[in-house]
Amino acid sequence: MKNDFYEILGITRNADAAEIKKAYRKKAIEFHPDKNPGDAVAEENFKKAAEAYEILSDPQKKAKYDQYGHQAFDGGGGGGGGFHGGGMNMDDIFSQFGDIFGGGGFGGGFGGGGGQRRVKGSNLRIKVKLTLEEIANGVEKKVKVKRKVQAAGVSYKTCSTCNGQGQVMRVTNTILGRMQSASTCPSCGGTGQILDKKPSNADAQGMVLEDETVAIKIPAGVVDGMQLKVANKGNDAPGNSIPGDLIVAIEEIEHETLKREGENLHLDLYISFSEAVLGVSKDIDAVNGKVRIKLEEGIQSGKILRLKGKGIPSVNSYGTGDLLVHVNVWTPKTLTKEQKQFFESNLSDDNFAPSPEKTDKSFFEKVKDMFS
Ligand SMILES: [Zn+2]
Repeated sequence: MKNDFYEILGITRNADAAEIKKAYRKKAIEFHPDKNPGDAVAEENFKKAAEAYEILSDPQKKAKYDQYGHQAFDGGGGGGGGFHGGGMNMDDIFSQFGDIFGGGGFGGGFGGGGGQRRVKGSNLRIKVKLTLEEIANGVEKKVKVKRKVQAAGVSYKTCSTCNGQGQVMRVTNTILGRMQSASTCPSCGGTGQILDKKPSNADAQGMVLEDETVAIKIPAGVVDGMQLKVANKGNDAPGNSIPGDLIVAIEEIEHETLKREGENLHLDLYISFSEAVLGVSKDIDAVNGKVRIKLEEGIQSGKILRLKGKGIPSVNSYGTGDLLVHVNVWTPKTLTKEQKQFFESNLSDDNFAPSPEKTDKSFFEKVKDMFS
């Protein structure tokens, strides 16, 4: 049994064209193979969503489906005569609906090329580890990748199954009459070409592995887990094709002292009791080296100093975060006899008695402020 197309997209039968498109886009992004590498269930869901969208986005097909259900497209029970030969393949989906991803980082499966369909090679994936400093400033990384490329001396000839069209037409008889549909040619996989001659070092498709150094420009502000795409630096495909993409996953190396929270950075600063009483200048860690800050005499433990613009730039260029310095006063754990006497003599001294002013916000109020 096939699932109901409306259920697959998670919409009601009253959904209009915009809602159908929006629902499909959501599902397609959720189950996109780039986001779910090697996940067969996600791929199946991705195909189902595309199948549902193919029907529901076409007013005529939608009307037939609304009236007759899946039967309208299943050839009246004759085995295997589905509207796409039992489901769409990935290349069909990308070529038909690739534009739905609208440049939001997801590439299509087919490139243009004088009206002829060109197969796109598979994507390559790598991880790049970045320090916080590299993230704050942006960086160019050179990475070595092993790409499949067409071997020198390989040649391809026109596929005889599809006469170079890359597609085969299928005619099915349905209760509504003859229906014609196209699917990717099984002999050439859509390229319209098959292998003619190949050198001995090439694989069955005429491909060899080649080392290539690729320079990757990484913008400032990237986040751990983010994926960047370097177009056309993935594997080549046989025949008249364009290369896949190189997908670069960002990994952030944890900084020794600075903790990142979005675009802001946090630093725990410890000062001595005497420094808190007398005031002090300190060189503290910032993302691009040390920064000198001045702590006023009588500074309270728990105070948070905000260094504007000393955080991480937004990856979308919406300004730069701050560096928040959390002041911690270190209480001495051992004292000499004289020190002990000094503190004992001040136990009831007014200068040592706590008297928080309104400006000395409690820890909880400060935290509330930071997140508001
Ligand atoms: Zn063919």
